[in-house]
Amino acid sequence: MNYQILGKTGLKVSEVGFGGIPIMRLNFKEATRVTRHAFDRGITFFDTANMYKDSEVKLGKALLGIRDQVVIATKTGRRDAAGALEHLELSLQSLQTGYIDLYQFHQVAQEKEWNAIIAPGGAMETVMKAKEQGKVRHIGITSHSLPMAIKFVQSGLFETIQFPFNFIEEAAKEELFVEARRYNVGIIVMKPFAGGIIDRAALAFKYLRQQADILPIPGFDSTEKIDEILAIYQHPNVVSEEDLLLMDQCRSEVGNQFCRRCEYCQPCPNGVMITAAMGYGVIAKRMSPAVAVDFAKTAMETVPNCVDCGVCKPRCPYQLPIPEILRKHYALYQKHREAQ
Ligand code: SF4
Ligand code: SF4
Repeated sequence: MNYQILGKTGLKVSEVGFGGIPIMRLNFKEATRVTRHAFDRGITFFDTANMYKDSEVKLGKALLGIRDQVVIATKTGRRDAAGALEHLELSLQSLQTGYIDLYQFHQVAQEKEWNAIIAPGGAMETVMKAKEQGKVRHIGITSHSLPMAIKFVQSGLFETIQFPFNFIEEAAKEELFVEARRYNVGIIVMKPFAGGIIDRAALAFKYLRQQADILPIPGFDSTEKIDEILAIYQHPNVVSEEDLLLMDQCRSEVGNQFCRRCEYCQPCPNGVMITAAMGYGVIAKRMSPAVAVDFAKTAMETVPNCVDCGVCKPRCPYQLPIPEILRKHYALYQKHREAQ
């Protein structure tokens, strides 16, 4: 395993991190086994979030005894000071630690969320204070919106930016990565498999390894998956003509008809949680039906509110047929729910 410095945090981290979503579907014993296997294989960066159900609790338990040898990153989705404080205290408790190495504002996609975070009484106040107190060591932010991510990097307020990047979603490579390097902001890459759409690990990581300083955080739910990805890193990276052709083939198969979670389509005047419901197809692919139903229930139960008004469609920069996709996902959700 090679190690690298994560931007201006100065933290030394493994060249591959551990994404904490998939351990939600494992029991505690399995989650501990997989997490400790990752550590034993040299992974030292573990990313989770308040919203990933029991992921923080599972990571906290699994990392007991090796806390000082790992870097823990977690997130809050709250935009107000009181809400962020509640999340932070809960994360510290769940992770069984006195400090969070990297505390991130989770999925900030819209100006109004950003304005709420930095306004008096906003979440930034809590996080800055926590940093002074030593409860938070570094501050980062995550987003699916390219213009917002660039703005966050240029704000000088963050030490890391977490953004989707893979050979289907390549946009970050140009301005965002260039700016992040200019400001020495650590680049954490989520969705190395495009949220489950890319099913060839070797191809996915050959692409990512062309950017030597980024930190991909694939989600792991088995020791085999960890070994598969780390095996790719044991060889010099060679991207052949055939690999490039396969990437092109995959890009054209997927086309532009998948949700990037940028949230431009929101809010829905009828209360449909569009982004979360648009992701159900991928969630159902990645989780067992029972876990998918449980995970997405809140969002999916808002889908019947859709009256096909079409307000969201012109807002989507990818021209996705949102109401049709929502109906398709709701039918799948219903099927999974009824099978329980
Ligand atoms: S089409 Fe449906 S999801 Fe889109 S804004 Fe209208 S009600 Fe909401
Ligand atoms: S449906 Fe379109 S606008 Fe809405 S989150 Fe997905 S990609 Fe973005």
